[in-house]
Amino acid sequence: MDVDTIRADFPILKREVNGYPLVYFDNAATSQKPVQVISAITDFYENHNANVGRAVHTLSQEATESQQNARKKVAHFINAQNSAEIIFLRGTTEAINLVAYSLGLHSLKKEDEILLSAMEHHSNIVPWNIIAQISGLSIKYVKVNSDGSLNYQDFESKLSRRTKVVSLTHVSNVTGAINDIKEITKTVHDFGALVMVDGAQSVPHLPVDVRDLDIDFLAFSGHKMLGPTGIGVLYGKAAILDRMEPFQGGGSMIDNVSLDPKQQLCNITYNVLPTKFEAGTPDISGSIGLGAAVEYLQTLGMEKVQNHEKLLTEYALQKLSELSKVTVYVHKNKTQSSGIIAFNIEGFSSHDVALLMDSKGIAIRSGFHCAEPLHHIMQLQSSARASFYIYNTYEEIDRFIDTLKQVA
Ligand code: PMP
Repeated sequence: MDVDTIRADFPILKREVNGYPLVYFDNAATSQKPVQVISAITDFYENHNANVGRAVHTLSQEATESQQNARKKVAHFINAQNSAEIIFLRGTTEAINLVAYSLGLHSLKKEDEILLSAMEHHSNIVPWNIIAQISGLSIKYVKVNSDGSLNYQDFESKLSRRTKVVSLTHVSNVTGAINDIKEITKTVHDFGALVMVDGAQSVPHLPVDVRDLDIDFLAFSGHKMLGPTGIGVLYGKAAILDRMEPFQGGGSMIDNVSLDPKQQLCNITYNVLPTKFEAGTPDISGSIGLGAAVEYLQTLGMEKVQNHEKLLTEYALQKLSELSKVTVYVHKNKTQSSGIIAFNIEGFSSHDVALLMDSKGIAIRSGFHCAEPLHHIMQLQSSARASFYIYNTYEEIDRFIDTLKQVA
């Protein structure tokens, strides 16, 4: 990959932080945005701004068409069969909530079980817990091995005919472990359950093909893949989404609403996909920005994106292994890990490490990374985390390592 050319597309990478050129290693939290995305959003507001799907005037038609094009680009990016299977939402969190609430309140019963894992982000734990409190269904958590990988024996032992949904992350945002979603999906489907995948850390970093994986739902966030904040996607198989009840009610998602004088409930029919799940005015500029982001990544090629991050990670891990006071918590199997390195330095809190890094212009994350249960299992108070993306370089890793040496 031509990283110099890529870097030239990202205005923020030219800035200094605390007197040093910025090194941005907090990509698992959110990525930076290229001019192509920024311009697509500006162009919408400067030239086409109107609400979508509501009016016959030219601007509204243009806005609607741009949003539809973005939907098609996203569908193509993950190889969905139909762009109606792409629901634009706020992000991964809202997408998981949609599935949890829609299935949990209307389809699942008290005797049903949901299978999650101990490596999940809070956004794939808390919605299911809220639903379990309301409907009384049970949740089981698949164990995580000491190397950060999913315990497949435990997964198989916990899967049963009572399991109705298995909701797992594709890539851990702490250890970078990649779960074998294709194999897991085959097994889960044999038990007649649905598979929901949290793709927040996979869709931005590796090729994801929903039809090849055969998953039922996929959630991901635009802001982690060069797009703007406030826009994300729920992919769902059309046949399943069609059967599901809406998550939120409001404008756009309805077909007809009429008052019935004989009863307090209105007569309501819902719109077709994807609008049935997109109540109210959507983030139009956000979806257009996401369309531009997807186009950018597709031009680079997702295999190349993944390979670039893999090489950076291997380089960083080699350098880190030379530092005696540093412990890393990455998945040991290189073919099943991605560009995320969680670590600690003996004698320092992760926040202190992140603050010292920031004083040298290096942005890393510290804390639980919204995966507190996994930290408890790993018996960690917290961890520092460096995460790479398309614009990161070996020189940046050298600066990161030099600063770590000073800290240690
Ligand atoms: N799942 C994982 C694995 C994540 O890393 C994140 C973001 N940290 C989320 C879900 C939530 O994403 P968002 O905040 O964009 O909804």
